[in-house]
Amino acid sequence: MRPWVPITKSGITNRERDSFYHNNAWRKSSERFLEDNPLCIACEKSGLLIPSKVTDHIIPKDICPDPWDKKNWQPLCRQCHSKKSGKDKTHFK
Ligand SMILES: [Zn+2]
Repeated sequence: MRPWVPITKSGITNRERDSFYHNNAWRKSSERFLEDNPLCIACEKSGLLIPSKVTDHIIPKDICPDPWDKKNWQPLCRQCHSKKSGKDKTHFK
């Protein structure tokens, strides 16, 4: 059902700051959010209907007061998300 869930409960990730996104509660809420908001909001603004794949924090998670506040969430496709996060941090791929 969810091949994208590589559960690593004990040895979560080597990047501490990203562990929020590897947490089950987040995955579940994010999944539900994307069901309610199935289209990428950035693409929609330019008139494209692209399925959303990522729940993004409008104000970056690290500096927003409450990462669980859905008013700060937006649905993005992978492309828009990497474009946006490319602005926030240096891209290492
Ligand atoms: Zn998009």
